[in-house]
Amino acid sequence: MERKIVLTGDRPTGPLHIGHYVGSLKKRVEMQESGDFQQFVMIADIQALTDNADNPAKIRENILEVMLDYLAVGLDPERTTIFVQSKIPALFELPMYYSNLVTLSRLQRNPTIKSEIKMRGFEKSIPVGFLTYPISQAADITAFRANLVPVGVDQLPMLEQTREIVNSFNNLYKKDVLVLPEAVLPDNENAYRIVGIDGGAKMSKSLGNCIFLKDDAKTVEKKVMSMFTDPNHIKVSEPGKIEGNVVFTYLDIFCKNEHFEKYCPDYKNLQEMKDHYRHGGLGDVKVKKFLNSILQEILTPIRERRIKFENNKKMLLDILAEHSRVASDYANITLDAVRDAIGIKIF
Ligand code: ATP
Ligand code: MG
Repeated sequence: MERKIVLTGDRPTGPLHIGHYVGSLKKRVEMQESGDFQQFVMIADIQALTDNADNPAKIRENILEVMLDYLAVGLDPERTTIFVQSKIPALFELPMYYSNLVTLSRLQRNPTIKSEIKMRGFEKSIPVGFLTYPISQAADITAFRANLVPVGVDQLPMLEQTREIVNSFNNLYKKDVLVLPEAVLPDNENAYRIVGIDGGAKMSKSLGNCIFLKDDAKTVEKKVMSMFTDPNHIKVSEPGKIEGNVVFTYLDIFCKNEHFEKYCPDYKNLQEMKDHYRHGGLGDVKVKKFLNSILQEILTPIRERRIKFENNKKMLLDILAEHSRVASDYANITLDAVRDAIGIKIF
């Protein structure tokens, strides 16, 4: 059986956070472990430049951070090709061809781009590179002939844009040159888009509302203790609200029944805990301590694995360089087919 191809990536704009973990990284590790997929993982430094052109040092420094996070969660370079976007020339040529198939108004309609423009204060003047990064992302996905792209829900509009480009290209030039990709969302619906610890729309490196995979135990605890809950729940005895309460939002994602036995035997399951909170008599501190225990259980092995690689930067760079060469050769096959299909190869 031919293995399906999986491509994902992360922008090296900061260390990775628990939103990345449940939104995408966990799935990648599972896919790797299954052995059923050929997996490419890209550190998207060029995409990161589209809204950080004034701060390339940040991107450079975070390439190794992201690589360390990958190894820490269990991505294995023996089985997964991990490469750097800027090392793959095909990814710069393909967008030139694809951009002829996309209109300006189509780019401006992209809901993720719209909200990112707002977040970044680009309303008055949008860098062209930023507006067009979905086209560059289509190049990333198609260059590797990816069938599957495991992502958080914020990436669905990008996948849709890619699919439109694939269909336009194949219809216009030659059938079946580009592969039509599909998004793979997390199994747990609550993990589609993790909110920030401040209750903000999305946990995001650029918003400073994250729990990072590399945060030490104390920092995680501090962040959990400072989480947004129900601002009107002042006395323990009073009823509290679950909706919009970040601590419960996170429990919905991370908590399993067995955690109650281990860390909070007063309740059998999350429903019981929520009911008590709603009726009054359960304080925020107790719920936060419970969440902290669960997060520590998940993050401790990740943190420990990270330490093993931290002092071996040379090895990490060697892996990235070697894998980028392999990835570039792979992407060039698609580039060649694309040039051929358009018919611009006269010699
Ligand atoms: P930036 O703020 O620089 O855009 P980011 O935190 O949004 O950073 P990305 O590198 O853009 O992270 O996203 C990498 C992957 O992680 C994508 O598949 C995205 O869908 C997923 N992801 C990012 N943030 C979350 C989140 N809060 N919840 C679930 N998935 C997320
Ligand atoms: Mg993002």
